[in-house]
Amino acid sequence: GLTMPIYNFSAGPAVMPKPVIEQIQRDLPNLNGSGMSILEISHRSSLFDTILAEAKQDLRDLMRIPDDYEILFFQGGGTGQFAAAPLNLATLHHAIALLDSGHWANRAGAEAAKLGVAVTTLASTQADHYTRLPHLPTTIPTESYDYLHLTVNNTIEGTTYHTIPQSSDLPLVADMSSNFLAQPYNVTDFDVIFAGAQKNLGPAGVTVVIIKKAIVKPVDHLPSMLDYHLFMTKNSLYNTPPVFAIYAAGLVLKWLKAQGGVAGIYQRNQEEAAKLYDFLDHSKLFYNPVHHADRSLTNIPFMTGDAQLDAEVVETAAQEGLMNLKGHRSVGGLRASFYNAMPMTGVDALVNFLHHFEQQR
Ligand code: PLP
Repeated sequence: GLTMPIYNFSAGPAVMPKPVIEQIQRDLPNLNGSGMSILEISHRSSLFDTILAEAKQDLRDLMRIPDDYEILFFQGGGTGQFAAAPLNLATLHHAIALLDSGHWANRAGAEAAKLGVAVTTLASTQADHYTRLPHLPTTIPTESYDYLHLTVNNTIEGTTYHTIPQSSDLPLVADMSSNFLAQPYNVTDFDVIFAGAQKNLGPAGVTVVIIKKAIVKPVDHLPSMLDYHLFMTKNSLYNTPPVFAIYAAGLVLKWLKAQGGVAGIYQRNQEEAAKLYDFLDHSKLFYNPVHHADRSLTNIPFMTGDAQLDAEVVETAAQEGLMNLKGHRSVGGLRASFYNAMPMTGVDALVNFLHHFEQQR
């Protein structure tokens, strides 16, 4: 019979490239003629050495990561890095600065505070319900901070720093979990970039940290699993790494290269996002609340203003194979996430559905 195409608009874990899923299926019983599956091979095997080295090199190529930056693989997700960053880097002033751009910025601040680090919010757009982004004040208060924490893409609120705030006085630690590899950024604008894999990069279980080598130093009394210096000296192999997740991320990186790299996928991400924003901006039923200049390419919240009707849209969409469109409870309404693996046909199907839904009322 006919099978309806399914499109997954989840904010994460999220859509993976189809060719990567198919490659994993082919590889699974017998990886590279080894007679073993990726689920069974040793992280000390030459097979895994190659997987790790290629993943690092492909990421280096894709993001043009210079040699004075290291690529590390951790476990613990973005949340693990909310602790790792202050533990490793807030060692001089025991104080960090924050731009309060929403939920995940607050989570990062709360985790640092829990570890005894002073957290100062330099600007907040909470009063605007985070529908626009906070920016650095022209003069940063005189106290000293070990770094500025920035949430580059706000997954829940649907905002993105398309231009990265800069302050020569402040090292910059960036949470890029939800738009990693979705659009080009200059790695040299940052001291640390981190991202959980489960949106644009691969399965949950591995967290990438890209860090300027010069700021990495040994710190006493750190849990080994969060220790940047230790992981750097051990090439992320201090203990058993998430072997499968690193392998799958490596396949996604090769897929991304075949899409024209970050520049190629950025072009398509812009076209995809523009299609939905254009529909929403002309719709008499749906709207997106975000300030245009700050709109995310990857996470697009929208609503009718009537919670019951929003729920009906989510349910009807699911019946048509358009999955996981429910908005985060703090924003309400709907949210469509267009990560790198979302094909244009998925965006077209969504926009057609919304158009049709509006026409039928
Ligand atoms: N930071 C951002 C921007 C996120 O979107 C998320 C999860 O959605 C996190 C951090 C938390 O990541 P994890 O679930 O990997 O700890």
